[in-house]
Amino acid sequence: MPQQIRRVLVRSLDDIVIEHVPPPSPGDGELLVRSSVVGVCGSDIHAAAGHHPFIDLPYRPGHEAVGVVTATGGGVEGFAPGDRVVVEPNLHCGRCAPCRSGRYNICQDLKVFGCQTPGAMADLFTLPADRVHRVPDGLTDLQAALVEPLATPMHAVAKAGDLTGRTVAVLGAGPIGLLTLAAARHAGAARIVVTDLLEGKRHRALRLGADAAPPADAPDLTALAHAALGGPADVVFDCVAREQSMAQGTDLVAKGGHIVVVGVGTAGTTPVRLDLIQDREIRVEGSLMYTTEDYRGAMALIASGAVRATDVVTATYPLEEAARAFRASLDPEQVKVLVTVDGP
Ligand SMILES: [Zn+2]
Ligand SMILES: [Zn+2]
Repeated sequence: MPQQIRRVLVRSLDDIVIEHVPPPSPGDGELLVRSSVVGVCGSDIHAAAGHHPFIDLPYRPGHEAVGVVTATGGGVEGFAPGDRVVVEPNLHCGRCAPCRSGRYNICQDLKVFGCQTPGAMADLFTLPADRVHRVPDGLTDLQAALVEPLATPMHAVAKAGDLTGRTVAVLGAGPIGLLTLAAARHAGAARIVVTDLLEGKRHRALRLGADAAPPADAPDLTALAHAALGGPADVVFDCVAREQSMAQGTDLVAKGGHIVVVGVGTAGTTPVRLDLIQDREIRVEGSLMYTTEDYRGAMALIASGAVRATDVVTATYPLEEAARAFRASLDPEQVKVLVTVDGP
């Protein structure tokens, strides 16, 4: 065991450093895991910028993590050193009403590993054994690093019910938007439009199978999207979650349709067209993170080849250059930026 491990500390976007701390040791029911690949999430960028409603600075990031078990704490069964695992970072109480009903992603006392607790952007980390999944042999570490980012869209798509033959609009072509496109297509959506402000991101959406990708600021966006879909969208996935995207979603969606809010909104109030929501019986529903089922679905989708790491991972940096990885993630042309950890 090393005397010290490296761990990333984020004080602000311009102040991201490596701290050297004693290695953690696994408590009862916990695993000690050596990090292999850790993703930088959109929520990490919001947090580093001081804009995330639920992550306080400074914090120690890394919730999209793949690693190898190096030791097990007391009472752990089913894992052994050498097992490759992917983290499911929602730390839930297991006792509240949502937890008891299986919706532990909205636990009343939810904490997220790597957001409210020290995360995996480090040489080693500990985590309760029930918060990791074994990586199937067929998946590479790079593919496994996409399981967490894909699980969020899997959960959102499941909210929309059976998508077979239905029309979909995805607002925002960042990582979550692109993976929502893949998940919705896999779920049987007939036609999908993806909107974004940036041309490069719209082109990527088209390459990944969108039927159309109009500019999010097109004055005739609704007409363009309706033309591409053959009418209003049965389901809108709002991966932007701002006033403008909610207004667009309300315009784009069919009467009796469904708007699933996937993006993280800003703290505070966001105006919405309540008159239209009422008049058109539009259902607006939030979607937060995922549960085990979504992880299983995400792993199967990646294993099937429907989501390829090469389409989504646009840069990787070693742990020592985590600050550069964060900076790279700010570049809108990047999709998923990963940090690789080579061991102490
Ligand atoms: Zn994330
Ligand atoms: Zn709970």
